[in-house]
Amino acid sequence: MSIASLPGTRQPGDLLRLSHLFVRTLREDPADAEVASHRLLVRAGYIRRAAPGIYSWLPLGLRVLAKVERVVREEMDAIGAQEVHFPALLPREPYEATGRWTEYGPNIFRLKDRKEADYLLAPTHEEMFTLLVKDLYSSYKDLPLALYQIQTKYRDEARPRAGLIRGREFIMKDSYSFDVDDAGLDESYAKHRAAYQRIFDRLGFEYVIVSAHAGAMGGSKSEEFLAKSPIGEDTYVECKACGYAANVEAAHAPVPDPIPFDGTAEAHAEDTPDTPTIEALVAYLNARFPREDRPWAAGDTLKNVLFRLDHPDGTTEAVAIGVPGDREVDVKRMEAAFYPAEFSPFGEEDFAARPELVKGYIGPGVLGEAGTAKIRYLLDPRVVEGTRWVTGANRPGQHVIDLVAGRDFTADGTIEVAEVWPGDPCPNGDGILETARGIEMGHVFQLGRKFAEALDLKVLDENGKAVTVTMGSYGVGVTRALAAIAEGNHDDKGLAWPAQVAPAHVHVVATGKGTEVFDAAERIATELVAHGVEVVYDDRPKVSPGVKFADAELLGVPLLVVVGRGLADGVVEVRPRAGQAEQVAVDDAVPAVVERVEAMLAG
Ligand code: ATP
Ligand code: MG
Repeated sequence: MSIASLPGTRQPGDLLRLSHLFVRTLREDPADAEVASHRLLVRAGYIRRAAPGIYSWLPLGLRVLAKVERVVREEMDAIGAQEVHFPALLPREPYEATGRWTEYGPNIFRLKDRKEADYLLAPTHEEMFTLLVKDLYSSYKDLPLALYQIQTKYRDEARPRAGLIRGREFIMKDSYSFDVDDAGLDESYAKHRAAYQRIFDRLGFEYVIVSAHAGAMGGSKSEEFLAKSPIGEDTYVECKACGYAANVEAAHAPVPDPIPFDGTAEAHAEDTPDTPTIEALVAYLNARFPREDRPWAAGDTLKNVLFRLDHPDGTTEAVAIGVPGDREVDVKRMEAAFYPAEFSPFGEEDFAARPELVKGYIGPGVLGEAGTAKIRYLLDPRVVEGTRWVTGANRPGQHVIDLVAGRDFTADGTIEVAEVWPGDPCPNGDGILETARGIEMGHVFQLGRKFAEALDLKVLDENGKAVTVTMGSYGVGVTRALAAIAEGNHDDKGLAWPAQVAPAHVHVVATGKGTEVFDAAERIATELVAHGVEVVYDDRPKVSPGVKFADAELLGVPLLVVVGRGLADGVVEVRPRAGQAEQVAVDDAVPAVVERVEAMLAG
């Protein structure tokens, strides 16, 4: 087995001489870099910022990118997906047909050609894949089919951040499966899910698969692969007892059983002066209206929060959300629940337009279909029938006590947007939820028939009847994965790539003034290359050892070979990027290094 045939090798014969390589390392962190991967990828000369969330790729960066892509490609090919490539620049019509031209709102780049026709830079390609298959295929015999591409996507993200992690131009592997029935879709989905496990295992991630919010894509089953990372923007919950794991956007609270309310006390409105906060209200209740069974707690109050929804088509709507008073409404969960609408808290003018709403004292009476304010009213699922609440009386300075859900009020539906706390009960059993953060690396999604219906993708089934195709859509953030690998593999001195994606396998440093040092280093470097090893060779004359070592640590090639002072005694130093140095006889250096590289790439 030669190294050149191992995954993680770009091509045999790569010798990157630092005297020549197009790279300049920086001693200073870029001013806009908040996270290590961003800081180090720029400082080590892998990428350069071109505009907010838009980066240029230098030779070292491109080499890593190619290796990440290779892993993705191999695993996609292994499940029988076929590679295609679509343009980034696309006409409006297909996106109009599925409603996404509007739905994406300000999140896509739109442009016009010279004839004033509308185009966009594609944020994802469901429409184009659907239309291509519709063009070419017409029978159930053609299915199942899986197609993929590794391609540049554009999204005008509201908050591009963390370098490659949230860019406005980024590379995604997107694939799409086409099946004639639901069982086929389940199988295609399972194949992709398994391929993603292999991809992220090979890329060296510690990851968790979480159930995800299906959102407005209209599908059913959806899971995300999150790289565990404190800098991740996604929060997930996990139950160690049963294995339940969900993005916080999709996390469920256990729904309590209804409680019989026959014979419970009547609701009564009471003056509750000087209770601007829930804390003050609870203290007041305990002093003036103590409960028979236990003291009142914040979770006994029902807080009704009002929001304004701005839909992408320009319409607006008001919505009221009732949550137990000990919890806030979670922004991420709101975004997911109401996507593609954007939400904002009710402003003064929103209240002014609805005088029946008494700010600070809003109760269910005025809300919902039956209420006078005509505002859609959605309740947290904990507010089940028979639970009793203290809530606003819709009169200044008054609250209602013993208002019983199902008896005294109802809502237009339920919604899960209340904060999730570590220690909350698991929806599936007796366990408790822990929370942690992650970076979304991949997403597998059962789209179902939404896109096929919108674009009329049908095939003839066994009986000659036209049936709508069911689809899956699957994404891997390729450039984000590269950044996340850097995020998980660095120290304060620089990057520390896993061998499979490193820009080279070995970094040879020649230090010293004599030509013997450079001659020996040159020989080792070229012999390694002849063995298929990819080598960065620091052949720069008149650069101090300190600078060379600092650069080697910054670039993060996994194995360092130092040819320097030891040469007089017939030895060179071999040192893993984050390990102990070893002295190796100069004549044994090449086979010893080749062996280590093989071991690194294999494991
Ligand atoms: P996010 O929630 O992080 O915005 P998303 O759910 O919108 O991502 P998908 O549409 O599921 O993303 O895209 C598939 C994959 O593409 C994601 O799992 C992620 O790895 C990657 N990705 C999405 N947006 C970006 C971005 N702005 N920059 C880099 N990678 C991205
Ligand atoms: Mg996603």
